[in-house]
Amino acid sequence: MTPAKLLLFASLTAFACAQAPTAKELESVYPDAHALYLDLHQNPELSAHETQTAAKLAARLRGAGYDVTEHVGGTGIVAILKNGAGPTIMLRTELDALPVEEKTGLSYASKVHAKDDAGRDVPVMHACGHDVHMASLLGTAEIMAHSKDTWHGTLMLIGQPAEETISGAKGMIGDGLFTRFPKPDVAVALHVGNEQPAGVVAVTPGVYNTNSDSIRITIYGKGGHGASPHTTVDPIVIAARTVLTLQTIASREVKPGELAIVTIGYLHAGLKNNIIPDQAEMGLTVRTYKQDVRQQVLAAITRITKAEAAAAGAPREPSIDRYEGTDSVYNDPALAQRLRAPLEAALGKDKVVIGEPITPSEDFSYFVEQGVPGFYFSLGGVDPDKFAQARAAGTHLPSNHSPLFAPDVDPALHTGITAEVAVLRNLLNTSTEDLHKLKAEKPSH
Ligand SMILES: [Zn+2]
Ligand SMILES: [Zn+2]
Repeated sequence: MTPAKLLLFASLTAFACAQAPTAKELESVYPDAHALYLDLHQNPELSAHETQTAAKLAARLRGAGYDVTEHVGGTGIVAILKNGAGPTIMLRTELDALPVEEKTGLSYASKVHAKDDAGRDVPVMHACGHDVHMASLLGTAEIMAHSKDTWHGTLMLIGQPAEETISGAKGMIGDGLFTRFPKPDVAVALHVGNEQPAGVVAVTPGVYNTNSDSIRITIYGKGGHGASPHTTVDPIVIAARTVLTLQTIASREVKPGELAIVTIGYLHAGLKNNIIPDQAEMGLTVRTYKQDVRQQVLAAITRITKAEAAAAGAPREPSIDRYEGTDSVYNDPALAQRLRAPLEAALGKDKVVIGEPITPSEDFSYFVEQGVPGFYFSLGGVDPDKFAQARAAGTHLPSNHSPLFAPDVDPALHTGITAEVAVLRNLLNTSTEDLHKLKAEKPSH
């Protein structure tokens, strides 16, 4: 390296290091963040019902000096901190928990029950770790508010409801997230999980997760006596054949190596053993990475379902209803490349890894589709010793949505806050023009 290059490298490194929060900054906010975590973990709320959760987060952010608007797209909140000229950077957390009964045995395990939208009594648990995300966002918010001399621009923090039902992002956008408030130049989010040990973050440039489609199929037959099948058209037999033929889409139709998941999560038909019912219903989830594979799989589902019904002489075509869906989250590659440096400077080079795309889906993609480049990264959540043991034994640790999901909170939360502050300070020290130059075109994938 020439002396001039060495000097540039040294100053860039020093600059990146300066973006990480100091140990003093981190420890000054950690008790607040951890207390909020424990409170939220013990008081989880279902999707679109996060009223107390939103109120608690809103109050803390207001206390930290943010200009907070509540009830954006339902229970959503938007917290703005203006700090001179510069870009607008959004950091998002989800607010919702899941209908899961916690079985972690932790002293702070959730014992909450609530009524779901169908009026059933269900247990509620932060089984996806959104409580970690909210606590991390609070710690980050406090550090950013206390260190306005280290960045400039507008920081926009959002608490998004109903991620688990893939409706909250859409709801906030529909309620003017990007028109009533500044439209961000970059949107950032993280997700805690069991793919990495606590202390590590994973960055996945390009496609981060899957396109998701939810489909409801109703097969119509002709009901009658179970002892007189010749007078009926049995929808259960049609459904059984349909289930098996649908499994040939991934194995026989889609090119080997391309991801295509077709899961039939329920199949409901009939009430009594000696009655042939007149219809059968099934629910599917379909996951793909690429748009063309997605269209191929959805077309094949329609073709097979109609053909199986026709083959059986069904009196009516089946109804095929795609009632929910979201696109894959796309990480702008130039942005992902750029943000590795501050993450490595903040956490250590060996603590920032390149992650593989994952199969669960997420509605963060709605923000990206509004023309906002996204940076969505993974936060390791597993006790490092348990992670090493599981890897050596070839076993799987409880994943998100499991009743046993229990992030190793102290290291995960410290890492989450450190990573968020480093990323935000980096972006909020860049000119809007330079951020726009980074904006790569989304390829048709
Ligand atoms: Zn989840
Ligand atoms: Zn989640």
